Amino acid sequence: MEACPFCRIREGSVAAHLLYQDEEVLAFLDISPVTQGHTLVVPRRHAASLTSCPPGTIAALFLAAVRVAGAIQRALGAPGFNLGLNDGRAAGQEVPHVHVHVIPRYGGEGGGVQRMVQRRGPAPPLAETAAKILAAMRT
Ligand SMILES: [Zn+2]
Repeated sequence: MEACPFCRIREGSVAAHLLYQDEEVLAFLDISPVTQGHTLVVPRRHAASLTSCPPGTIAALFLAAVRVAGAIQRALGAPGFNLGLNDGRAAGQEVPHVHVHVIPRYGGEGGGVQRMVQRRGPAPPLAETAAKILAAMRT
């Protein structure tokens, strides 16, 4: 998938500030950082959704994200970080190649992942919601 910017980074045809790589994943600085050190961790193999990635890739993605987050904290003095993953256009995914955002937090920026949805949707009873999800998990 030549047009995919993350595949182009993997191929080396687009420059990036690489921070980590292994057989499954790459991590590099986001070109439009929300905070200093904002990093993206992506699988080497192109996949639009996390749900289509093999378990080993998913594990590698999050292990690398945590490893990179720890290094960013030590290097830049960030006392906290957010991990974020926008899966699907409805969730705000802009590049259709799975990527985990590692966003260092320095304090005072405000917000957290619970605040990223700007308009709340309907809230049916929790038991009803849980029953639907549990039924889907059994299939
Ligand atoms: Zn790609």
